[in-house]
Amino acid sequence: MPKHLVSGLKYIAAVNLTKQGYSQKEIAEALDMNRSTVSHYLNGRNLSWKSIEVAKIITEMCPRDFLLLTHSLTQNTEITRTIIRTCQKKKFRATIRNSCIGCGLCVDTCLMKAITLRDLKAHIESEMCCGCLICVEMCPTNSIEIKEVEFDGNNRSN
Ligand code: SF4
Ligand code: SF4
Repeated sequence: MPKHLVSGLKYIAAVNLTKQGYSQKEIAEALDMNRSTVSHYLNGRNLSWKSIEVAKIITEMCPRDFLLLTHSLTQNTEITRTIIRTCQKKKFRATIRNSCIGCGLCVDTCLMKAITLRDLKAHIESEMCCGCLICVEMCPTNSIEIKEVEFDGNNRSN
């Protein structure tokens, strides 16, 4: 079953990447598939529709469950990032407070590779953040704030 779910997730990601203008070759590279499989998928062949339905449910889970379940299914961090970035419908804005002590725990924690250390302070690339909040729980100084924002960049909570 997991293999079929990965196929369903890759199908949804492939459709979204096609809409974004990526070629089948680029999609095949991004999702670690061969080009003919991408072509079959985009033509609705070699796929179980049940798997696509379940994969759609996975993409609609909360950000953390979507990320961790996808990672567990694919067993591949790069493919997971591609699927999350392509299928995640929410956007987030990350802020680091001055209380950051530069311990780096959040850097090692972030599966999306959204966090770097600069001058011993954490910096989060909001565009790369999927809102899983794992870093928020990990931070020993409560220095990370992640807020969901509208697609046009306006903060819903303001
Ligand atoms: S919430 Fe934190 S751990 Fe999760 S993707 Fe964003 S920066 Fe990375
Ligand atoms: S875990 Fe917290 S204190 Fe440590 S680097 Fe990240 S934001 Fe800073």
